[in-house]
Amino acid sequence: MIKVKNVTKKYGNFMALDDVSFEIKEGEVVGLLGPNGAGKSTTMNIITGYIEQTEGEVVVAGYDMLKKPKKAKREIGYMPEGVPLYTDLTVKEFVTYMAELKKVKGKEKKEKVEKVIKEMGLEDVQKKLIRNLSRGYKQRVSMAGALVGNPKVLILDEPTVGLDPKQVTEIRALIKQLKKKHTVIISSHILSEISQICNKVIIINKGKILAIDTPKNLENKVAHNNIIYVTVEDPENKMAGIKDKIKDLKNVKLIKENEDKTKEFMLEGKKDVDLRKSVFDKLSKEGITIFELKKADTSLEEAFIKVIEEGGKK
Ligand code: ADP
Ligand code: MG
Repeated sequence: MIKVKNVTKKYGNFMALDDVSFEIKEGEVVGLLGPNGAGKSTTMNIITGYIEQTEGEVVVAGYDMLKKPKKAKREIGYMPEGVPLYTDLTVKEFVTYMAELKKVKGKEKKEKVEKVIKEMGLEDVQKKLIRNLSRGYKQRVSMAGALVGNPKVLILDEPTVGLDPKQVTEIRALIKQLKKKHTVIISSHILSEISQICNKVIIINKGKILAIDTPKNLENKVAHNNIIYVTVEDPENKMAGIKDKIKDLKNVKLIKENEDKTKEFMLEGKKDVDLRKSVFDKLSKEGITIFELKKADTSLEEAFIKVIEEGGKK
């Protein structure tokens, strides 16, 4: 549905995008993830034909963005970063204007505008000027503008920035509905947002793509299979000598002592060794009571940071 091939963008001598390539299939929901200044908005602006790449190729729904811009753009709904422009229009005027830009005409235009206003929960405010709306409503108006005409591809640039937690939840719920009917790209610098919504993540930093993978695979890449946490009751302090009694156990560290006299330890095995079974067996034999035993969690957050850090070293 979307093909970005060897795209480079220079602002003067500054390389904002450096040989970016990826493909997005129909129905995929893809997160474009990276810190501020990474090149997310630049990428989106190029895919939507809002700015031109310096080099490379962008194809949307079969149309080359530079050769067939009108046709390509008609397939795309774009919600740019920040609040919508045209704040002196009413909600309905704005959405109608966006429909006209997509060449939706006549009776169909009226129907489509009404439909999207309803879908985005804007019926009560449709006659209000955009400038008088709350930030959360403005965001919905912007999303309505992107959605009108039912484009195949939706491009949402940091859709939840500047919203309060309740509004964030509402917008995420709206996005989750959209993903059934559209191919979606969402940019964000917030990882949890992407992992909740997307089935593929593109990590970008300093204009370069560092990884393209599923959220799950990214997590697995940094999973600490060899680290477990165990909370024990150990009045005779036998944990002190446990290290030499379990094969492949490399390191034992007391993390905290709880008020109920239980202690939490971090146990590190050799690389890729899952210690859970041997620790469970051995501690039981030693008369150490296990209250809790768990593998270290790895979050997508860690994966993200790791990928970015490794990318920076190259
Ligand atoms: P992101 O959306 O990931 O925060 P952007 O795509 O907006 O990042 O910007 C990527 C880089 O390109 C940044 O360093 C930014 O300062 C630079 N940049 C963006 N737009 C322009 C422009 N019009 N002129 C010069 N530099 C720009
Ligand atoms: Mg941006």
